[in-house]
Amino acid sequence: MVTVYHDADADMAALDGKCVAVIGYGNQGHAQAQNLRDSGATVIVGNRQDEYRKSALADDFEVLPIRDAARRGDIVLMLIPDEVQPQVFARQVLSGLAEGDTLVFASGYNVAYGLVQGPECVDVVMVAPRMIGSAVRNLYRQGKGYPCLVAVGQNATGQALATALAVARGIGATRAAAFASSFEEEALMDLFAEQFLWAGIVRLCTLYYDMLVEAGCAPESVASELYLSGEMVEVAEAMIETGFFKQLDLHSHTSQYGQLSRGERVVGDGAQRVAAEIMEQIRSGQFAQEWTAEQQAGMPHLEGLKKTALTHPLNEVEQRTKRILGLG
Ligand code: NDP
Repeated sequence: MVTVYHDADADMAALDGKCVAVIGYGNQGHAQAQNLRDSGATVIVGNRQDEYRKSALADDFEVLPIRDAARRGDIVLMLIPDEVQPQVFARQVLSGLAEGDTLVFASGYNVAYGLVQGPECVDVVMVAPRMIGSAVRNLYRQGKGYPCLVAVGQNATGQALATALAVARGIGATRAAAFASSFEEEALMDLFAEQFLWAGIVRLCTLYYDMLVEAGCAPESVASELYLSGEMVEVAEAMIETGFFKQLDLHSHTSQYGQLSRGERVVGDGAQRVAAEIMEQIRSGQFAQEWTAEQQAGMPHLEGLKKTALTHPLNEVEQRTKRILGLG
């Protein structure tokens, strides 16, 4: 069984006398910086001279250029987008790290694929919230927690786990639970969810819409049925409250029979073979190489895919249907 940590397993004293430098003040940065400060930690922010910097200043943080914040910080949280981390780390963070410092990542990707490597004299840990940044802040303010994954990649001081758990507690995650993990496990779960689960859900929803509209159904009714009614959200909540399968009792017998009798045909052996292929490409680093090459080329493939998605008729129907439903 997985090792799980709660507040009682995490001692905030690990942050005593230490300066926490939060690099980046975006989704996670603004939330984690404020939660850590409210938990009693000394926090500074490292950011470039632009909008997010103004936002950190407005929230009463001392904001330094990234290079200076990394130098001042004993515990450095890398909270800028994964794709810019390798370059920013090499140019502005690495030289500021001193023996015994701790480098904290909120996702496993860059360390798992060797794109960022801390010097041997520092601790390298992961505290990865399973929650979007706005909720990280809101839940904290409501006194609630949310799950996160913690991992130790390098333990130069022998205190790496204690520091990671203190950060996890400071951001409010261990009020719920911190699951012991690894950079590789986090990256695999994250990428596989994106590339198999979400890729499949988005594709199935698009196919559902296209086929029903082609069959003569009203596009607005299909869009409402598909997601704008909010039924999907209700089902997701019922899965949490009642149980993933047990919530089936909330649906009609016809629905239960349809769902359970057709699923294997919809996602059959072919899909399982593709899933295995996708997983292997993630594990072997082939996907990471492909994504690095795509970024270096200026993301032309991603731009093309997004353009296609944003020209799908659903975009227009969505606006109309939202007005019909009084959703703005
Ligand atoms: P954001 O996209 O919100 O990061 C924005 C911040 O990064 C801003 O401070 C921005 O500053 C800075 N930034 C962007 N580009 C650069 C650059 N080239 N050089 C310097 N600073 C830059 O990131 P997230 O909060 O979404 O993600 C941060 C980390 O958290 C990632 O590792 C991500 O995987 C992880 N994570 C994110 C979750 C989420 O819900 N978003 C959930 C769990 C983990 P500027 O003002 O200069 O633009």
